[in-house]
Amino acid sequence: MKSIGLYIHIPFCYKKCLYCDFNSYANKDIYEEPYIEALLKELNYYINQGKYTFKTVFIGGGTPTIINPENIERIIKAIEKNIEKDAEITIECNPGTVDEKKALLYKTVGINRISIGLQAWQDELLNIIGRMHDRKGFIESLNIFRKHGFDNINVDLMFSLPKQTLQMWEESLNNVCSLGVEHVSCYSLIVEEGTTIYQLIRSGQLSIPDDETDREMYRMAKEILETYGLKQYEISNYSREGFQCIHNLIYWNNEEYIGAGAGSHSKIDRVRYWNYRSIEEYIARLKNNELPVEDREIISTEEGLWETIMLGLRLNTGLFIPDINEKYSINFMEKYGDVLFKLNRYELIQISGDRIYLTDKGRDLSNTVFVEFME
Ligand code: SF4
Repeated sequence: MKSIGLYIHIPFCYKKCLYCDFNSYANKDIYEEPYIEALLKELNYYINQGKYTFKTVFIGGGTPTIINPENIERIIKAIEKNIEKDAEITIECNPGTVDEKKALLYKTVGINRISIGLQAWQDELLNIIGRMHDRKGFIESLNIFRKHGFDNINVDLMFSLPKQTLQMWEESLNNVCSLGVEHVSCYSLIVEEGTTIYQLIRSGQLSIPDDETDREMYRMAKEILETYGLKQYEISNYSREGFQCIHNLIYWNNEEYIGAGAGSHSKIDRVRYWNYRSIEEYIARLKNNELPVEDREIISTEEGLWETIMLGLRLNTGLFIPDINEKYSINFMEKYGDVLFKLNRYELIQISGDRIYLTDKGRDLSNTVFVEFME
């Protein structure tokens, strides 16, 4: 059997955040039960194939912690015989959506990693971006998880938020780290067209920090997090030794995974396919005993190579050239000689033995580096 990662999507949130472009809806009460029935059918399809074991399971969303905890139990029970011993099993949580009963049940069913979406320490900023929770709710949730023995906790933070100053960002980083979490993810706000925040910025009602401040915040994150023993291992991710997110490493190492649930993407045997994004369509397909797959594409060798380069360079361990040469039957140094020379000259990459890494400057300008490898 193939050892892969499994992502399970729960597309419900109490309310849409102003910047959110994810597949999430505020109509859990109508759809939760039929959605879970559909999801269990999709998961059973993969289990009955008997082809996969799961080295990681990631229950993401949306906000998985707002659904009935017994539904989380049903999901885990449906796949448990294929979950590998010592697998990393993560659930995403928003502050204020967990209580003692839920935490106990998560622990009992084998969830061993929690990812909490705090985003900012200041209630003022949380309010501006339309988050449901406040800082107090975050601290309470974190304490509940700790009380129930969760010792692998990530906190998501965002920078370049409207009205966020460098001092506020510094405060967010320091205060979260002081709580002793094992992992922190830091992402810059992406203003997606069609979101409420996009309209507010366009109409001049809100503004975001300029590019220079954005980069300064990025560099500040690395500097502060490292003083707390949280080492950068990917462009936006930091962890204590031994607490890297194994599930996300599957994506960055361009390995295989299955995504179950509305809008989820899968990549198996050089084929990428994705499910219907609409909850209604997803449920209807499975009710009809059809797979909820909207479309699929074969990943060409060139595309696979580019993805491997782009994703691998995100990691601080960089690219291991002999592996790439073997997998794609190429001579990497020859094929990309000119590109490597140029990027090296601009101090964007470093070549050391069989490995190629982004430099700090290269991480700052990572998109520019990735584009250079496109054919
Ligand atoms: S909690 Fe996450 S998924 Fe839900 S609306 Fe906010 S950003 Fe979107």
